[in-house]
Amino acid sequence: MNSPEIVTELPANILYTLGYRDWRPQDIKDVVEELDAVLVDVRILPSSRNKAFTKSALESLLVDRYRHLRPCGNENFKGTMGPDTVLVSDAACYEGVRALTRLGPVVLMCMCSDHASCHRNDVAKLVSGRDGLVVAHLYPPAVNIPSARAFQQRLDLA
Ligand SMILES: [Zn+2]
Repeated sequence: MNSPEIVTELPANILYTLGYRDWRPQDIKDVVEELDAVLVDVRILPSSRNKAFTKSALESLLVDRYRHLRPCGNENFKGTMGPDTVLVSDAACYEGVRALTRLGPVVLMCMCSDHASCHRNDVAKLVSGRDGLVVAHLYPPAVNIPSARAFQQRLDLA
């Protein structure tokens, strides 16, 4: 954690999400390290035409701060989001994310820019609803210098 101010200004029990489409990999790494978090990839298939966002590239980038949780993938994902989310396994997704949130902050990651039309929002609700976590959606930083103010500007507390 680079800035202790962040801890004092934000609730402790936040479940974060981000959609990587508008992010640079290094900025994702920076924010995950800043939060001392684990990035949980909730794509049903952790692949991408952008080689920076394949499972192997993210594992190389984030090492033990990366997990792919296939149970949290959306069976109805067809390249664009449909209206109905069907998780591979609600129970296994919940248990997987919950186990990680007990160890520290978690950032749920999908591709979609807009969390409102992304199944990661459904995953966030599934976990936060039962465990009393506050959901916050992260946005790409305007500047690549972590600070409490920049952090809050790219945070949207749901
Ligand atoms: Zn998505």
